[in-house]
Amino acid sequence: MKEIVPAPPPIVRNDVATIQGLFQQNVVPSYGRFDLVLSHGTGPYVWDVTGRRYTDLGGGIAVNALGHSPAAITDALIEQSRKLVHISNLYYHETQGRLAQNIVSLIGSGKIFFCNSGAEANEGLYKVARKFGHDEGRFEIITALNSFHGRTLAGIAATGQDKIKKGFEPAVTGFRHVPYNDLQAVRDAISPATIAVLIEGIQGEGGVTPATPEYLLGLRKLCDERKMLLLMDAVQDGHFRTGRFQSFQRILEGVPGGETFLPDGISMAKSLGAGFPMGAFWLRSPHGDLLSAGTHGTTYGGSPLACSVALKVLEVMQREKLGDNARMLGDWFKSKLRELGEKHPGIIREVRGHGLMLGIELCPEIPNLPGDPAKAQSMRLVLLLQEAGILTVPAGTQVIRLLPPLNLLQEQAVEAMQTIETVFERIATRVPSAA
Ligand SMILES: *Cc1c(COP(=O)(O)O)cnc(C)c1O
Repeated sequence: MKEIVPAPPPIVRNDVATIQGLFQQNVVPSYGRFDLVLSHGTGPYVWDVTGRRYTDLGGGIAVNALGHSPAAITDALIEQSRKLVHISNLYYHETQGRLAQNIVSLIGSGKIFFCNSGAEANEGLYKVARKFGHDEGRFEIITALNSFHGRTLAGIAATGQDKIKKGFEPAVTGFRHVPYNDLQAVRDAISPATIAVLIEGIQGEGGVTPATPEYLLGLRKLCDERKMLLLMDAVQDGHFRTGRFQSFQRILEGVPGGETFLPDGISMAKSLGAGFPMGAFWLRSPHGDLLSAGTHGTTYGGSPLACSVALKVLEVMQREKLGDNARMLGDWFKSKLRELGEKHPGIIREVRGHGLMLGIELCPEIPNLPGDPAKAQSMRLVLLLQEAGILTVPAGTQVIRLLPPLNLLQEQAVEAMQTIETVFERIATRVPSAA
């Protein structure tokens, strides 16, 4: 068991203002931040600089899969940094090979490329698709409306949300968007230039919308027929979050034909390094050899330090069966949240997701919802939960996401759920004149 690091002495309110002032003066304001200055954390808990504790059910947006400052990562960082931190990809080293082997064994026969983020992993997949279709002059990739694929220029072109593209035109060419979970729409969008389809197994930023089994199997068949690549962005929903290593494995459980399903490429990041910045993509055999020497690269990709952390993360996840925990706690949260929804049909419209990737969709107009009416309902609810000591993440204007660490304990989940219930109770019983 890890020793709990003594908390630094709480600092006074003025220091919060000082830190925020540093940001206002010196940091590009591209993020809308909560009014919260965090100082340290352990397991599912984080503390702000005033000494207040929060249960982090947002998990750094699906990154902190082992919770905050897990001892396993600290140990891996210390041990590996004493041996080799970085060597460039001009040379071989054992941990990159072992990590690739481990990921391949969890998905299927293929090869891995290592990079540093989700957007960069997706960039690699776009390049693979273009390389695959190059000799035939095919380059177009079909993606889904409401998708999210990252903030690079090609990433925002791939993403099916206008708000993310606005102001950065002209867009990178070669992307078409169609409604999600609509196979016919993909079929209709195919042109002679189409080379690939890219989807999330569960749309994350788009509001926690899982693909249906029919959609996945239908896309596989369609891509085979048209000699197109089926690419999946598993940056948010991967790494045992849904109960299985990949969300498609969970979605297709028990579905006839599901056991043999594999996409042609999968992008990963977020929980891959559980907080250490890292990305990767898997390519199904024989596509793993499409990117020959000199065609793709990144200086930091697959460094000894990053790979030793990711190897340790996978080892802990497998040894502690965190997929099973995510499935069990996810099912429990889902049933509790659905009960809450039945109790408050005027507040909760639907609860969706698999494992510990859950979305609570709010009703279009919640009467008496406290907070600034200029703010989206999802944001107002996230703020109310935050005041009550629970961190969550909004997805769009109507959905609140729960993406807690996969090693959350049942009693921690129970405690968090009680707080969530209290907050919903308070909204339901609130009279308009109350503050
Ligand atoms: C977060 C996310 C990305 C982008 O990852 P970055 O590491 O921020 O570049 C891409 N796709 C999905 C589905 C994501 O959730």
